[in-house]
Amino acid sequence: MEDRSCELFRKACEIIPGGVNSPVRACRNVDSMPLFISSATGCHLFDADGREYIDYVLSWGPMILGHTWPSVTAALKDAVPKGTSYGAPCAAEVELASLIVEAVSGVEMVRMVNSGTEATMSALRLARAVTGRDGVVKFIGCYHGHADPFLAAAGSGVATHSIPGTPGVPETVTRDTLLAPYNDLDAVSRLFAENGDRIAAIIVEPAAANMGLVLPAPGFLRGLRRLASEHGSLLIFDEVITGFRLAYGGAQGRFGIEPDLTTMGKIIGGGLPVGCFGGKRVYMERVAPQGPVYQAGTLSGNPLAMAAGIATLKQLKTMNYSGLENRTAAFARSLEEILAAKGVPVSVPSIASMFCVFFSEEAPSNFDQAKAADQKLFASFYRRMREQGIYLAPSGFETGMVSFVHSEEDFDRTLDAASKVVF
Ligand SMILES: *Cc1c(COP(=O)(O)O)cnc(C)c1O
Repeated sequence: MEDRSCELFRKACEIIPGGVNSPVRACRNVDSMPLFISSATGCHLFDADGREYIDYVLSWGPMILGHTWPSVTAALKDAVPKGTSYGAPCAAEVELASLIVEAVSGVEMVRMVNSGTEATMSALRLARAVTGRDGVVKFIGCYHGHADPFLAAAGSGVATHSIPGTPGVPETVTRDTLLAPYNDLDAVSRLFAENGDRIAAIIVEPAAANMGLVLPAPGFLRGLRRLASEHGSLLIFDEVITGFRLAYGGAQGRFGIEPDLTTMGKIIGGGLPVGCFGGKRVYMERVAPQGPVYQAGTLSGNPLAMAAGIATLKQLKTMNYSGLENRTAAFARSLEEILAAKGVPVSVPSIASMFCVFFSEEAPSNFDQAKAADQKLFASFYRRMREQGIYLAPSGFETGMVSFVHSEEDFDRTLDAASKVVF
């Protein structure tokens, strides 16, 4: 008999393209159908057929406190009866902005938006306005949302579904997107040597988490900081994933490197649709209405989203990030050992509360190497794990997420499932 997820998916496919509202949710490349989720609590998901899963997707990053963390749920319950949108300023916007400015060293002023995509496209617009230049250096396999200028050699769903370039994006737009391999400072130097006077910004994921997990090599981010400064370009850290995950102060706090502009999303909304861009005051003062660079949003600073974000950040301030990092690293090492013992090439890099299973001997340091990992092995691993109640991202080009509420028992159950996988 067909289960409820299949039935819903079949209906969805008739009225929603591909049956999903974001391509990364489709499970085509792992030869599966998506699960429809009916509820979630802690690090556990329940599908439409009542089956339970340990969640390592965490809504692609936001749920670092797990689902339905009590103070976040309470903040929402408190906010709902006060109205769901005003289209006028509210105190919660000032409070969330203060929490972000206090936590993130490179952010002196911040503008709230509704998604990471809006954050990166607005930050690039600002960088272009500030410098009077159009070019942007982007790294192959990094994902910065789905705005036109970033859809050249993008990671995440673009990589998963092997979408070459993207129809609908004018060549005149991506012409200004200059590509370099991740971790390749020489390639960036060459781009600057050839185009330095037309490069407005370098945008980078300070730990790349949309081509699988690819860590910055020592000196890479510092080198970008130096090149941007030397050539009068702005350095944009896209911390939509790493913000409040690599550390409370984000990647810039952890690595001690200050970008000119920062984009965030995911965690800062506590599971509601939020993003933000911020940076040095001299640049942010150029944003309308203080300055001429237009940016706006009907629902920006939405009171429910602000309430969830504030409750999340207040809680995170008290959490033991290094404890979670150590537990995640130990889990990743065990997972790697268990899979390696089966005779498959495997490497499971981790940082903070993120990990990634690559079916390759070495952890990749750029997109070409990430692509060389065995996607067929990944697909069977994904299916065998899901059958056993372990919910991983349905792509070898995505990153596993761990929350503060994943327990040792959850890890043990996951490792036990991995040990039963037959390739
Ligand atoms: C998810 C993500 C985005 C896009 O955010 P949305 O909220 O999905 O628009 C941008 N940059 C990075 C690094 C991301 O991981």
